[in-house]
Amino acid sequence: MADRWQQYLRQQAEIGGNEVYVSRTVGPSARQLAPQSAAESTAHPPISPSDPPWSKGAPPIPGPGLVIEPPALDLLTDELAGLATLEAVATRVAGCTKCPLCEGRRNTVPGEGDPHARMMLVGEGPGATEDETGRPFVGAAGELLTQILGAIGIPRESVFIANIVKCRPPQNRKPLPDEAAACLPYLRRQIELVRPKVLVALGATAAENMLGARKSLGELRGAVHSYAGIPLVVTYHPAALLRNPNWKKPTWDDVRIARQLLDR
Ligand code: URA
Ligand code: SF4
Repeated sequence: MADRWQQYLRQQAEIGGNEVYVSRTVGPSARQLAPQSAAESTAHPPISPSDPPWSKGAPPIPGPGLVIEPPALDLLTDELAGLATLEAVATRVAGCTKCPLCEGRRNTVPGEGDPHARMMLVGEGPGATEDETGRPFVGAAGELLTQILGAIGIPRESVFIANIVKCRPPQNRKPLPDEAAACLPYLRRQIELVRPKVLVALGATAAENMLGARKSLGELRGAVHSYAGIPLVVTYHPAALLRNPNWKKPTWDDVRIARQLLDR
């Protein structure tokens, strides 16, 4: 029983529970999650309101990575540049037949959230529940994403969540390069309209397609890339975290980097 409780606390700490509480309660193994300096380990400084729980043990903001200037949408030649609102983009997506993924969809999933969000997250593409509801990240992975955001003090409603492709790939396979390429201008326009302060690429498909880099997720993490002048942090996809809990800790570090970029 106690073991299960400790394991629960440790898991909570990994996705953003109160590390201070955990480090005092379950001892050295949890303390490793939030390494303390020698001075700190003898006296526990009180957490001030300006010192939110997620910030304890957060990694420093890493140095710059890739700098990507995606082709600008040109008002004369690109029809999407004329779409003035996110609703207009969603309407255009709803009628889109630019790639074969349109054939299998029940609903398009353009993305949703605060049109003035300071953080924008990008996933891969709709799964079954998303295809049924027309909303991004509403399945199990979406629940985990909501929890992760909550752990850095960000209500899900305050971000904007989109995907590389807006229609569900068959059997949830990865979008093919041509499909991603056909759909990317919508994301580009959404980013232009939202103008977030930080972008988070969730998983290799988002990272590769946004950064145009055939590199592993491991190689793309740990740097602050620049996409159209906006800082972009790469992390694991929440569905991958459900399969491999070892990735929760690195993800927790990545989202805390993204969180710190909001204050920069
Ligand atoms: N996975 C994604 O990449 N996007 C969603 O919208 C849902 C699950
Ligand atoms: Fe159009 Fe994107 Fe859907 Fe393909 S995935 S049909 S490009 S909206």
